[in-house]
Amino acid sequence: MNVKRIFCIGRNYAEHIKELGNTPDEAFVLFMKPPSCLVPPGKTLTLPRGRGGVHHEAELVVALTGGGADIPEAEALSHISHITLGLDLTLRDLQSELKKKSWPWELAKAFDQAAPLGDWTPYRQQDLQALEFTFHVNGTLRQHAKTSDMLFSVARQIHILSRTWALQDGDIIYTGTPSGVGPLVAGDRLLLESTGIGRFEWNCA
Ligand code: ZN
Repeated sequence: MNVKRIFCIGRNYAEHIKELGNTPDEAFVLFMKPPSCLVPPGKTLTLPRGRGGVHHEAELVVALTGGGADIPEAEALSHISHITLGLDLTLRDLQSELKKKSWPWELAKAFDQAAPLGDWTPYRQQDLQALEFTFHVNGTLRQHAKTSDMLFSVARQIHILSRTWALQDGDIIYTGTPSGVGPLVAGDRLLLESTGIGRFEWNCA
């Protein structure tokens, strides 16, 4: 897949919002990463050094086809071609500093290798709000997501994004992370998996 743009949704699971000290509300939090951040499974992730903690955020990721502007929510799922899982890597200490200053998050979210992404599987109209996925570090469960807990459904995310951007083939969406985010260090072995989507691994250096 030729990924064109990476849209990322923030604050989409209530328990994750609370664990970072934020209050769940109606806000739709959106940021982007360049496609150069992507890392396929099996590659070594070289974590940024000397810039504070690097956190994992395990997420369901969808790829769009067709697209267009002002897509009604009821039609949004028909624009999904593939799904997979990904990690929205975040320099958490730096992000906290940027938040305090009300500055943009790119330095904390869009660095090289900040978007490990699994292999795509065709979207077969399964219920995207009834999926589960897990993320393990060195064999220990860190995150267990139930997409029924999303505050903004995938269809609603596509609808909202399409009011600002005419969506295109190759646009992908990281749909937000559940609770359990935490630090990664060199030597960690990462496993992101979901039945029916796949099992994706990375090693950290
Ligand atoms: Zn995220």
